[in-house]
Amino acid sequence: DQDQFKKVLSHAKEYGYVFQSSEIYDGLSAVYDYGQNGVELKKNIREYWWQAMTQLNQDIVGIDAAIFMHPTTWKASGHVDAFNDPLIDNKDSKKRYRADVLIEDYCEKNLQKANKEIAKAAKRFGEDFDADMYRQTNPRVMGYMKKATEPTARLATLLEAEDLAGVKALIEELEIADPDTGSKNWTDVRQFNLMFGTKIGASADTATDLYLRPETAQGIFVNFLNVQKTGRMKIPFGIAQTGKAFRNEIVARQFIFRQREFEQMEMQYFVKPGTELEWFEIWKERRMAWHNSLGMGQENYRFHDHEKLAHYANAATDIEFDFPFGFKELEGIHSRTDFDLKAHEEHSGKKLQFFDHEENKSYVPYVLETSIGLDRMFLAVFSNSLQEEKLDGGGERTVLKLPAVLAPVKAAILPLLKKDGLPEIANEIIDELKWSMKVAYEEKDSIGKRYARHDLNGTPYCVTIDHDTKEDHAVTVRDRDTMTQERIAIKDLKSYIEKRVSM
Ligand code: ATP
Repeated sequence: DQDQFKKVLSHAKEYGYVFQSSEIYDGLSAVYDYGQNGVELKKNIREYWWQAMTQLNQDIVGIDAAIFMHPTTWKASGHVDAFNDPLIDNKDSKKRYRADVLIEDYCEKNLQKANKEIAKAAKRFGEDFDADMYRQTNPRVMGYMKKATEPTARLATLLEAEDLAGVKALIEELEIADPDTGSKNWTDVRQFNLMFGTKIGASADTATDLYLRPETAQGIFVNFLNVQKTGRMKIPFGIAQTGKAFRNEIVARQFIFRQREFEQMEMQYFVKPGTELEWFEIWKERRMAWHNSLGMGQENYRFHDHEKLAHYANAATDIEFDFPFGFKELEGIHSRTDFDLKAHEEHSGKKLQFFDHEENKSYVPYVLETSIGLDRMFLAVFSNSLQEEKLDGGGERTVLKLPAVLAPVKAAILPLLKKDGLPEIANEIIDELKWSMKVAYEEKDSIGKRYARHDLNGTPYCVTIDHDTKEDHAVTVRDRDTMTQERIAIKDLKSYIEKRVSM
């Protein structure tokens, strides 16, 4: 809900996770910076994905392709011609919108109205109330449901036919107004390419027009043969990559969910033609298992299979996550056929084929793709972890229950007092732990306050050094989630924490 989302935003800033870009100049819209904790969380998510792909699978290797690519890449991939959003301006407010989003928002509002009616009725009728029945029979709800579904279907048909005049007519017919000003004075709808253009080269006449890559996938496709040959890879095999991508998104909202500069984690898996749909199912399952391994609640994920497929795909699904603003796409899994490799063969004049010794013939492999936004994953993890809890003895606490494996700081090392040799012992402990995990030292404030601060920071373990430590060579380890405390010998401390915070 909106309240939870607001808390996520302010907590992310207050605890050094995410800042608005160029904030002292009032920010740059849909661009964000990661702070001292954010950079660690982001790195740990990337690492968790990278290990799962390239270390746990013998048949997947990684690459790191450049952001700049030869401009023909984007001709071949279809991005120059087809990576567009339909734009519309309001003539009075001079504000710019995505025409499709205006229509989708209209549908969403009607869906909410329908749900409100149903909730009211449920209260009125009590226990025996059948919501589905009501949805299908109550005229008022049926009216809202019609307005919630019909326009999206019509929009899809219009976009498919590239009928932009039709999209404008639909906006007028639905009497959609500028959400800010209420004005219904719209311009025509036109296509807007999402790629950022730039130039390479010093002199004006030799400079070449380039694009900042809008996805990392193409860097994998153009390197397919390099990796296959030098890595002596046999089909099926995969290539993984993480890196920045850039899209000139028109609707900039929902924090780091939709940014103009963001990071992707993509894996292209090359298979024998005809086996792709089996692999599609396998990768769906593997990716969902990866998400579930973080323990953020199975009920927060769902598949959303695509009914309408992009021209290059023969199967596609999204893994959706329950963000504070509802279930939204977190990851895409696509069966991309041989579309990309064939297109690059055509445009480059080079063969991009695999010689299959068993079959004794060459073919262009088919491709399964798993594509997840690192920033979206960050938002999923962060918003899911920020929790308010009622405590047993009364009172409340706010705690950032990040999966320990992803937490920026694994342990806070806290001498009870700033004297009596306790800070020295703390420093010895840090010197031992710091080679295998990130730890923090704190000596200010009461232990209770320090615990509370590290709960808010997401630190899974607090290690307290007290006067007994000098006698028993042990420390108190407090668990962020259960708030229970255990006495652990210093010599066992490293393995105790390591076991709980590593992959
Ligand atoms: P959406 O429909 O939300 O715009 P998409 O279908 O265009 O996403 P893909 O092109 O399939 O997204 O990109 C793969 C993944 O990259 C998405 O699942 C998402 O996690 C991430 N992603 C895409 N666009 C953005 C963005 N502007 N900001 C942050 N992450 C993004």
